[in-house]
Amino acid sequence: MRHRPFALLLSVVALVACVAVAPSGAGAPQASAERPHAVIFMIGDGFGISQLAFSRNVVVGKGKRFVLESLPVVGLMTTWSASNAVTDSGAAATAMGAGVKTDNKHIGMDAAGKPVSTFADRAKEQGWKLGYVTTTRITHATPAACYGHVINRDDEWTIAEQILVQRPDVALGGGAAFFLPAAKQGKRTDGRDLLEEARKLGYAVWQRGDAWTSPPPDRLLGVFANDHLAYKLDDARLPPERRDPPLDKLTSLALDVLTKRTDGAKDDRGFYLMIEGGRIDHACHEHDAAGCAAEAADFDRAVAVVLEFQKKHPDTLVVLTADHATGGLAMNDTVDWDAVKRQKCSLLWLSGQVRSGGAGAALINEMTGYTDFGDEDVKVVRDAVDDYQGARELGHRLGRRQGVTWVPRINFQDTFGHTGEDVAVFAGGPGSSHFAGEIDNTDIPRLFCKLLGWHDPN
Ligand SMILES: [Zn+2]
Repeated sequence: MRHRPFALLLSVVALVACVAVAPSGAGAPQASAERPHAVIFMIGDGFGISQLAFSRNVVVGKGKRFVLESLPVVGLMTTWSASNAVTDSGAAATAMGAGVKTDNKHIGMDAAGKPVSTFADRAKEQGWKLGYVTTTRITHATPAACYGHVINRDDEWTIAEQILVQRPDVALGGGAAFFLPAAKQGKRTDGRDLLEEARKLGYAVWQRGDAWTSPPPDRLLGVFANDHLAYKLDDARLPPERRDPPLDKLTSLALDVLTKRTDGAKDDRGFYLMIEGGRIDHACHEHDAAGCAAEAADFDRAVAVVLEFQKKHPDTLVVLTADHATGGLAMNDTVDWDAVKRQKCSLLWLSGQVRSGGAGAALINEMTGYTDFGDEDVKVVRDAVDDYQGARELGHRLGRRQGVTWVPRINFQDTFGHTGEDVAVFAGGPGSSHFAGEIDNTDIPRLFCKLLGWHDPN
């Protein structure tokens, strides 16, 4: 999508027309100055206001701001789900994708289990291109709610099939295992190779180590890891050839696909791009404060790419929010910021090393910058039910030293430690003023549709 002088002239004319003619109530603001030519929706999973403030202090320092905070419009958003005052990512993403409140764990289904259509579906009907980018498995709850419909978010086998039903133009993240049969290191037991099926549908499929061609393919499915993309703290310690692509690079690649002209000069289609910084949430589930900050920094670098794009294409609406907060991370006055910055790996990796890699207190001390972890700490981590609980045990022990506090109890049945406070909304571009004030997560797709003059998805 290149912004031609003709289009600019047209939008100036439209602006004048809009000012001159009285607004027609709930009528569509077609071709008005508020009608975006493209929508980029960014979700920091688990990126509550506390996570934002905490990470800002670690990453850019006191008194400075993340790039994302330069978006001019700021609002607050309620996030409750149909089943709980505290949402999970599935219900939140369904609310933000389809404008429907549903039960936790549902993806693209209402609370009664009926499939709902999404803003992405509406955009596709209108001839827009679609793109999804995440640092998690592409089949994980947040991206899944753009295209998938399942009662249980853990059914990622079905979700992987559903991405080939909606067929977005570009989808980038991890999660190859849910596309591949066991014979190819996958988790599918039905023998299907969905990556091969994607190729037959006209997709280029890129995996880790594949060369990125420029210009990119017209349709691209990029699954760069079997599971989620690696935590930034861990990825940074790998040799370059084993690293996963960072979110800013994936974002640039998605924008290249979405703005590529596939039909000569006539193809100047709008697009909807959802970008998720998906592992802020995971780090907070594991009570890993330094991990949270590193993932937030990765997300913010992707925002820089998006805002650079928006500068060249000012008819792009950018909206950024979180689906919920996670872990009860508090921005309290006991935090030893230098200690948080000293941590060299994720607590999940460290937990794995202690539990099955044979590592002891020496590695914990080396990676956290302390000297007083001992055998008792190692025993608690080894006795944990799994690596995640081991990471949380480490997180609590490290938190006492770093002065970081987390939610003391975790509900293992539902959200695993999300919290339900309102989250921030940041927006810029045409129509962005509608995202100011207090909105609900179901308002997001409705506002997109209103600005575009489209019917609500449901
Ligand atoms: Zn979430």
